[in-house]
Amino acid sequence: MPVYVSNLGFPRIGARRELKTALESFWSGKATREALLGTAKDLRAATWRRQQALGLDIVPSGDFSLYDQVLDTSVMVGAIPALYRPLGAPESLDVYFAMARGTQAANAENGCAHGHGHGHGGADVPAQEMTKWFDTNYHYLVPELGPLQRFALTTTKPVDEFREAKALGIHTRPVIIGPVTWLLLAKPAQEGFEPLSLLGDLLPVYVELLSRLRDAGADWVQIDEPALVLDLDDAARAAFRTAYAEFAERVSGLKLMLATYFGGLGDNLETAVGLPVAGLHVDLVRAPEQLDAVVGKAPANLTLSLGVVDGRNVWKTDLAAVLDRIAPVAARRTKLLIAPSCSLLHVPVDLDLETKLDPAVKDWLAFGVQKLEELALLGKALNGGRESVGEALAANAASIAARRASPLVRDPAVRARLAEVDAGWSVRSAPFAERIAAQRAILALPPLPTTTIGSFPQTAAVRKARAAHGKGDLDDAGYDAFLREETERAIRWQEEIGLDVLVHGEFERNDMVQYFGEQLSGFAFTKAGWVQSYGSRCVRPPIIYGDVSRPQPMTVDWWRYAQSLTEKPVKGMLTGPVTILQWSFVRDDQPRADTCRQIALAIRDEVLDLEAAGAKIVQIDEAALREGLPLCRTDWQKYLDWAVDAFRLASSGVRSETQIHTHMCYSEFNDIIAAIGAMDADVISIETARSKMELLDAFATSAYPNEIGPGVYDIHSPRIPTPGEMQHLLRAAGERLLVRQLWVNPDCGLKTRGWDEVRPALVNMVEAAKAVRAGTG
Ligand code: GLN
Ligand code: ZN
Repeated sequence: MPVYVSNLGFPRIGARRELKTALESFWSGKATREALLGTAKDLRAATWRRQQALGLDIVPSGDFSLYDQVLDTSVMVGAIPALYRPLGAPESLDVYFAMARGTQAANAENGCAHGHGHGHGGADVPAQEMTKWFDTNYHYLVPELGPLQRFALTTTKPVDEFREAKALGIHTRPVIIGPVTWLLLAKPAQEGFEPLSLLGDLLPVYVELLSRLRDAGADWVQIDEPALVLDLDDAARAAFRTAYAEFAERVSGLKLMLATYFGGLGDNLETAVGLPVAGLHVDLVRAPEQLDAVVGKAPANLTLSLGVVDGRNVWKTDLAAVLDRIAPVAARRTKLLIAPSCSLLHVPVDLDLETKLDPAVKDWLAFGVQKLEELALLGKALNGGRESVGEALAANAASIAARRASPLVRDPAVRARLAEVDAGWSVRSAPFAERIAAQRAILALPPLPTTTIGSFPQTAAVRKARAAHGKGDLDDAGYDAFLREETERAIRWQEEIGLDVLVHGEFERNDMVQYFGEQLSGFAFTKAGWVQSYGSRCVRPPIIYGDVSRPQPMTVDWWRYAQSLTEKPVKGMLTGPVTILQWSFVRDDQPRADTCRQIALAIRDEVLDLEAAGAKIVQIDEAALREGLPLCRTDWQKYLDWAVDAFRLASSGVRSETQIHTHMCYSEFNDIIAAIGAMDADVISIETARSKMELLDAFATSAYPNEIGPGVYDIHSPRIPTPGEMQHLLRAAGERLLVRQLWVNPDCGLKTRGWDEVRPALVNMVEAAKAVRAGTG
């Protein structure tokens, strides 16, 4: 029997972000529902045809989504919280997009970066909570389930899309999210409730769905259960057995391909191979070591789908290496598929659109389309012998070898320097108590010093000037003059309202990672390498292909200019090594930890140059430190060790009296508080406004010794907080921590807000700090 070539999912945003355009026109009222649905339909058809033309045996359907596949599932099974039900029929776009984005009373002002345009006649409901899909940078909408939840098949999206493809003459394998993973991703609507306890009520809905898919003509269905790579307790494992036994018993004539990805099955292997399903997909990119165990344990009649092409990264596959590993399995097993490791949702669509990449680097890359070409080639080699595709394999081998040997990848100077680094580089010259005394003497700040996180509004004017400069319509001098004016205005205004520690405003930055990546060696940038982050939001992650170094200072001129305008201290403002790593496509030819250390050294150089230029405070943002945590807890400590060390390597070169700040945009610290402490930043600013300071408990109970700025102003909302509210939050913080430890600042940077919101909010914030200082608050 041949080895079949399959895909698990394709990016749905469109190679030119057609879906984004269509969604945003619809939301702004410029385009009709029909226009949006028409674009969606065209995108699906083009995607199916393209995959067929590439020679795939198994093409997925149902992997499309107007916003998010988890939301699709929630709506499909009728998990629509009561809040959204009055907005329309359960299957309507009104309900769907309200769950996705919330609605705003028609006249409400909203400066939110992704804009809420579509009016809903006065209804004002919040969106569902959003969080990261496993360890990716894709965000899904979190289902919310309570004990009264009852399920019913509310939409038949997978069936409709299967039929749609069939009408085009394409027989697809529908993709759905499995019931156990979906329940495990849900959050309880009330404390103590276990969403998994709803499994019994949910299963009949899945049985009905699967039966309908079979009746529509599907022979296989891909059912995604990535939760099988997590640490599972007995209850979750039992839920898998219950669910799949039920499907085996109640749905006949349909084969299920149980898809696992983002890691190895580990302790769940016995559970997975014991389920009564026809097929099992395993991720051999993230967990190559599981191949033998999976093949050894899988019953002979279980179809195995081997994920051999990386669905999470942009590198060309070493085809010979894959063939060497897979050919022996193919010789022994009759039922075999090859596939990407996971859905291709997480990589850009098509490398052919990149016309500006260095051709040497471009030759090492494969985006979605190219990954499917690789799979087709692997299929031919496995089925027809390597000779049948000898030329293509030779070309692949040449490019793999070229990358390995390229001087672009290895910089001897970077390696020599890293070899010199010893543990001493990651330790400040004095303990915190000594440092803070020296810093206080120099900075002479009042108690409860006020500051902001770095960015000020990226207004239409700022974005317009940047775009004009990018296009060449505005020359360097003109752009520079524009940015200087913005910066000066920001400095003057901060002085005027009485902030204690100022920022330059980050007007010159397109993005907190891209701005640095563009100035570092070893980074490449795409023109159209968009990856969906959530809904219509896409990001274009930098590609780290080689050893990282910093040819010249990146931020010193802007800092120096800003500081020249004022007597008050202006913070140097940098993005940390872990965050730069986490928001990039990272080279796969060395451990992530090694790449992170290289970035750390580059940032260290910048920190020291800022200090030499006179900066008394340098802030190193590590927004993504927490999201880098591995999926399995047993792997956490190893990650935290190298991540914290990278931060320390970046920050520890300075003198004791130079104050290092860091910033993190989230509030769950309980489980990583030791690592946060180990970073040994002099001051950390965190998000707390929405949680009413309760989240400071982690810092209080662990007796966190360094200084903290708990955000008192929720920048994610257009609301302007009153001085009273902020005084209240400050007092709550003061009950948990020493007042002399506390700073006063917003939750995060202000770039997504408008000046009309920022001005009064910060005036109120300064007033609140003064009132609490004076003991009158
Ligand atoms: N300094 C950055 C800013 O203010 C930090 C942003 C972030 O952490 N997300 O925009
Ligand atoms: Zn932040």
